[in-house]
Amino acid sequence: MNSSPNSKRSMFGLLCAAFGHDYIVTRKVTNHINEYKCSHCGREVAENDSGHLEVLTQKLKNTNSNLATFFQKKNRRVSTL
Ligand SMILES: [Zn+2]
Repeated sequence: MNSSPNSKRSMFGLLCAAFGHDYIVTRKVTNHINEYKCSHCGREVAENDSGHLEVLTQKLKNTNSNLATFFQKKNRRVSTL
């Protein structure tokens, strides 16, 4: 058994290059910002402030975590009014 998951992943990478990524939402950060993951190649992206997709780095994940916490708090306060 010489399984090679890498070759499978790169095949999906080619599919993505040809047809575009198949992003699914992995986390809702705010009403305007979501995190996505490609179900084919595993590439993770997120919307930035200007609404464009950028690669989801660890730093951006942390930023989004803080943003999500802040956003939820803000929402909760609004909904109790
Ligand atoms: Zn992809």
